[in-house]
Amino acid sequence: MRSKSAPGTTFFFAAPDDFDGAVVSLRDDEAHHASRVLRLRTGDEIQIVDGMGGWYRVMLDKLDGGVVRGSIIERRLGVGESSTYVHLAVAGLKSRSRFDMILEKATELGVSRVTVLDTQRAERARVDVDRSTRLMRAAMKQCKRSRIPLLEGPVGLSEFLSGAEASRKLVCHNGDGDVSIPNALDASDRDVTIAVGPEGGFANDEIDLAIARGFQSVHLGPRRLRTETACLVACSAILMTGIA
Ligand code: SAH
Repeated sequence: MRSKSAPGTTFFFAAPDDFDGAVVSLRDDEAHHASRVLRLRTGDEIQIVDGMGGWYRVMLDKLDGGVVRGSIIERRLGVGESSTYVHLAVAGLKSRSRFDMILEKATELGVSRVTVLDTQRAERARVDVDRSTRLMRAAMKQCKRSRIPLLEGPVGLSEFLSGAEASRKLVCHNGDGDVSIPNALDASDRDVTIAVGPEGGFANDEIDLAIARGFQSVHLGPRRLRTETACLVACSAILMTGIA
């Protein structure tokens, strides 16, 4: 049985290169999903996002073998995106599954940029950008946003701290941070960078350097959270602050 195509159910992905004027093509897994899994037909409508903030309502006009093509009938910018730009910087983790979880959940929460930090106690700071981007792309479609977070690193902590330009810069420091995130933010903050340390924590001189570079140390409550939990709590606290 073929599922009814209701625009609003599945988001598809097409890279900017897959657009040619008002015509867009789906590739590989996306084409397979449309034609073989959902068994869409000519005339069906789908929603496509390009990972750069573009959202398109598209009417399919060709499904033939591997070729799935349609015409754009509506376009919007920033569908599913938050009004606050959150840049999460997190120390490298040894566990790939914990790191994957950070990327998937940060995408769902609406984070715009993720930097992997090399800190004194970071466990591993390697980043497989292709694999991670595929993971974030899947999360983007699943949660119905239109932008894939920018992923970068590893970057040394001092380089990161010197280059951070957000209007609000926070560093999560165990239970010793000065204030909680809600108390550190104004409702008008729209550009926030937040740094989270490795399982071994930031070293004291790293916190001192962060503060010297304009970061404020914040706490996330009285428990010691794992790095991935701290990321999710911190990002949701920031992103909820901007929501009316
Ligand atoms: N080994 C450290 C804990 C590190 S937890 C210790 O024994 O104290 C990993 C990271 O998560 C920390 O570097 C910090 O950035 C963040 N984190 C965990 N719990 C936190 C809390 N309650 N408040 C603020 N940051 C926290």
